[in-house]
Amino acid sequence: MVSVKKTRPAKGISQQRIAVIGGGVCGLTTTLRLAENGFEVELFEAAPKPGGRTRSFLDKKTGEWCDNGPHLLNGAYIATEKLLADCHASNHVTWQSSLKLSLWDQQRQYFSLGPSTMLPFPLALLLAVKSMPGHGWNSALAMLRFNLAVKSKQCSDRCIASLLKDCKAPDAFIRDMIGPICLGAMNESTETADAKTFGRVLSESFASQRCARLGWFNAPLQQALIEPLVQQAKHSGAIIHTRHRVQSLQSFDDKVMVDGNRFDACVLALPAYASNRLLGQDGECETRAIINIHLWYPNHPGLPEPFIGGIGTQGQWFFDISSQMRQTSPLHRHLCAVISAVEAEVDHDKLLEQIHREFSCLCKTNCSPSHTRIVHEKRATVLVRPRDMKPDTKRIINASESPVPGELPATIEFAVRRGEKAALDIIKSRK
Ligand SMILES: Cc1cc2nc3c(=O)[nH]c(=O)nc-3n(C[C@H](O)[C@H](O)[C@H](O)COP(=O)(O)OP(=O)(O)OC[C@H]3O[C@@H](n4cnc5c(N)ncnc54)[C@H](O)[C@@H]3O)c2cc1C
Repeated sequence: MVSVKKTRPAKGISQQRIAVIGGGVCGLTTTLRLAENGFEVELFEAAPKPGGRTRSFLDKKTGEWCDNGPHLLNGAYIATEKLLADCHASNHVTWQSSLKLSLWDQQRQYFSLGPSTMLPFPLALLLAVKSMPGHGWNSALAMLRFNLAVKSKQCSDRCIASLLKDCKAPDAFIRDMIGPICLGAMNESTETADAKTFGRVLSESFASQRCARLGWFNAPLQQALIEPLVQQAKHSGAIIHTRHRVQSLQSFDDKVMVDGNRFDACVLALPAYASNRLLGQDGECETRAIINIHLWYPNHPGLPEPFIGGIGTQGQWFFDISSQMRQTSPLHRHLCAVISAVEAEVDHDKLLEQIHREFSCLCKTNCSPSHTRIVHEKRATVLVRPRDMKPDTKRIINASESPVPGELPATIEFAVRRGEKAALDIIKSRK
């Protein structure tokens, strides 16, 4: 992890003008870190509000602030935790005390992966996998073999599915463990997801009991994450322009021009397809969609856990948003199902019906929703792919989301780390 220490502004730095393009988590992180270090920073965001893919909107029918999609964190999100602490927002995340992954399927109903806290974590994890219904030593040993394979050289240029085949992993282990983790972390199936990046996700996330625990925001993203970042950046002197889509970027020896305004350097904090457009570069940029189906139910008991992974269900993750936001009135229960890695066009009405049926099974109720809403994020994440990365120039640092094999996949943590690194590169180069 790159950590940017707050230092005294070096002589001359206060006259350095830096433009940051893109006001998602990455751009806000860079803006904050540079402003803290005495740079004159201006952030340009195309939308009416900062936030990017971590944003909230007001649902007029319920009067509730609603997120484009629930965002899960885990204890390996070290840079994110530090950033939240620096913005006095650590208490906006609820953390499990130790890992518990609750799952459901039609046959086994509720079961969970919950390693004991009394044993060393690797042993506890092994035994937890072994004791899940439908598993046994077969799955536990497959986990060991897969763990070795995914960290070895043999995983380069391979997809996860082919590595699982080499490891003779049983179907139950793939269906209940690797499949859901892969969809959640990489937003694509094991058939195409890069094994090297997955190895990195596993080694960071399962490094210890602390890293493995999961966390969720207990307030809408705007309030929990974006506003604290914006306020802290402004407090440090940054200027944030919204409704400003940057159209032109020109780099010279002594300056960079952003829509005709002169800056000393510029950071691109965009998804790769948007930065390619701005830089006039071609280049494949594969993305995947995520669909979030929000349902509001009157008189509903809610889910037994704040979130549950569905096995063999259309929804992959089922969230009890009311419980996550600590609004436990049964009169108005907000539930949300997430469908990741969406490739084809889908019929939203059919999807909604199916998700409602699945919630009815999960919660053993047959009440009908009083309100529904579908958020289809067409380019939710940029996929991990080999790419020819153009090196940064003296004046343009490209911190965009374009993960290559071995890097973290597109997540909040990856956005924060990219933002921190871009700030550090600017600080180093201007000293
Ligand atoms: C539905 C959904 C669920 C997700 N779930 C999770 C999860 O559970 N856990 C997790 O860790 N991650 C999750 N992610 C991924 C995570 O949200 C993103 O990887 C991260 O927010 C990317 O941040 P960013 O700052 O790099 O990019 P963005 O948030 O996309 O920010 C880029 C900004 O640039 C602006 N922009 C674009 N072009 C221009 C221009 N020319 N001029 C000015 N501004 C411009 C855009 O409006 C945008 O605000 C999820 C993403 C989605 C969509």
